[in-house]
Amino acid sequence: MPEVERHKYDVVVIGAGGAGLRAVIEAREHGLSVAVVCKSLFGKAHTVMAEGGCAASMGNANEKDNWQTHFRDTMRGGKFLNNWRMAELHAQEAPDRVWELETYGALFDRTPDGRISQRNFGGHTYPRLAHVGDRTGLELIRTMQQKIVSLQQEDFAATGDYEARIKVFAECTVSDLIKDGDRISGAFGYWRESGNFILFETPAVVLATGGIGKSYKVTSNSWEYTGDGHALALRAGATLINMEFLQFHPTGMVWPPSVKGILVTEGVRGDGGVLKNTEGKRFMFDYIPAVFKGQYAETEEEADQWLRDNDSARRTPDLLPRDEVARAINEEVKAGRGTPHGGVYLDIASRLPREEILKRLPSMHHQFKELADVDITSEPMEVGPTCHYVMGGIEVDPDTGAAVVPGLFAAGECSGGMHGSNRLGGNSLSDLLVFGRRAGLGASSYVEQLAERPRVTEDDIAEATKTALAPFDPPAEGAAENPYTLHSDMQQTMNDLVGIIRKEHELAEAIEKLGVLRERYDHVTVEGKRPFNPGWHLALDLRNMLLVSECVAQAALIRTESRGGHTRDDHPKMDADWRNKLLVCRVDPEDDAQTVPGVTVTPADQLPMRDELLALFELSELEKYYTAAELVKHPAQVA
Ligand code: FAD
Repeated sequence: MPEVERHKYDVVVIGAGGAGLRAVIEAREHGLSVAVVCKSLFGKAHTVMAEGGCAASMGNANEKDNWQTHFRDTMRGGKFLNNWRMAELHAQEAPDRVWELETYGALFDRTPDGRISQRNFGGHTYPRLAHVGDRTGLELIRTMQQKIVSLQQEDFAATGDYEARIKVFAECTVSDLIKDGDRISGAFGYWRESGNFILFETPAVVLATGGIGKSYKVTSNSWEYTGDGHALALRAGATLINMEFLQFHPTGMVWPPSVKGILVTEGVRGDGGVLKNTEGKRFMFDYIPAVFKGQYAETEEEADQWLRDNDSARRTPDLLPRDEVARAINEEVKAGRGTPHGGVYLDIASRLPREEILKRLPSMHHQFKELADVDITSEPMEVGPTCHYVMGGIEVDPDTGAAVVPGLFAAGECSGGMHGSNRLGGNSLSDLLVFGRRAGLGASSYVEQLAERPRVTEDDIAEATKTALAPFDPPAEGAAENPYTLHSDMQQTMNDLVGIIRKEHELAEAIEKLGVLRERYDHVTVEGKRPFNPGWHLALDLRNMLLVSECVAQAALIRTESRGGHTRDDHPKMDADWRNKLLVCRVDPEDDAQTVPGVTVTPADQLPMRDELLALFELSELEKYYTAAELVKHPAQVA
């Protein structure tokens, strides 16, 4: 058996984006030893790419804002399918998490009177996104890394070893979790450069691995978003929820083809940019759905007035939640009013002076100039939907981040529940901070209460090693499969058949095709040796992407309604009976010895919202989403 490097930690955090780093800080502050493992370079996570900002009801731009309004907006955005306890904690704790970042050294943009500036974003009643130009995620990561360095310096002062309590394992991919009985006992992986194997013995793992976008052909996500955390959790016996809900961000670049899918921040619309079709029409006024009627401006004049003063008018429908805007763009293109490259126009040039655009949106200016030779200060951008974010993820306890497997915790994009069927922009960065901290706390309390540590056996290591090496040693019979071809076939399947608008027969076809891809995966073959071998890395990532894609397709077939990030052409309406149901994905027990096992998807009831939270909404609004039976306890009925 190849040699395996071994380490022991109290907590292992997999992922060094915002959620992972915040969990590391919390576990270390509780005196535990923590390893943080990331498959990319330290600092290169999706969090670093976040542009628009971090939502928190600090009330700096409009003092009427408060956690209750943020909670209401989040539930509306998620079409009331959110785990309400997560939405409650998130809305209540986000301001403290942003202020805390300042104590770590963050430098947010300021209002003229020196408070943290907050910008408008889709679905948020008030300007709420704390930001640093359009590079907010970079500041978040920079600050948390700085905090980690300062903690390491404290550890050096106390022990003479900077890495006594926090050690970073960068460019190191975890490929399997290990259990002792039903509890987590370790994580197994490999160094990307050398291909050497590594084992972490630990009673607690926090998964913070981000999303699944690389299962799709057109995506704003980068190479490391391959659903690893989702798949690691599933294979370890945890459950995933909400997997049918994927966010197609309305504004990705559409041209040139090599950059198709790259994100155009919602901050462009937050700062006054408008969507237009080829007839020059601001078409979003035609797409205000019934559930939001009365909440959005109905004329251009009113929408523009709202930008000047959001108390004196209703907000622009350009900033409807993302699912609504993405569907509207899709409709316009289908109706023949799209641009030559299959998108619509996003115009900031005619709305703000050049200097203001350069100040507020420097990255967007650079991105379009360099990649598309478009100057956004004088020309409109061409944009269209791109697979951006997965609302679905590991089912966790809202307060502690604990998954159903003892010792397993999750936070950030790889966890599920918080955003329901659709996430509001800016709510991810705040989610990472709130639930990253809570998962770090949850893991620490779990470890502190353990009577004895679980063990990793030699058999466990041998099995994980064998699985990782399988692509070098495919079965003798059957044609060898190239991982790049398999990946491309899978991305095309997901794009064409499980995309923004879904149909029963196409979903059934997708599931059949994914079944064939799973069989082909057994023959996946890589050339060369283990030292830096991207084909091998992709082969191992594919094992995760295939499993997670299966969950998305199966859940999408079962949910016979349209809600948030799940649009069924054959079931175009929301159905109140479905609002109450979560679709829970598990590895099929009959199949769990397979490299890519099958999954089962079963409906489960949501916990009803606490009465005082229900009372935060008008009865007339809830009636658009809830069944009559669920609303009997609303104060307006009881009175
Ligand atoms: P990430 O930040 O992606 O970190 C994942 C980590 O897991 C990485 O370190 C990765 O290397 C590691 N990893 C993955 N698999 C493994 C493995 N098997 N082994 C070891 N390590 C692994 N949200 C907002 O709220 N506001 C915004 O303005 C905003 N803008 C965005 C712009 C873009 C272009 C994109 C793509 C997203 C944006 N989002 C925004 C969404 C938000 O950035 C992400 O949802 C969020 O950063 C996810 O954070 P995370 O900590 O969960 O994961």
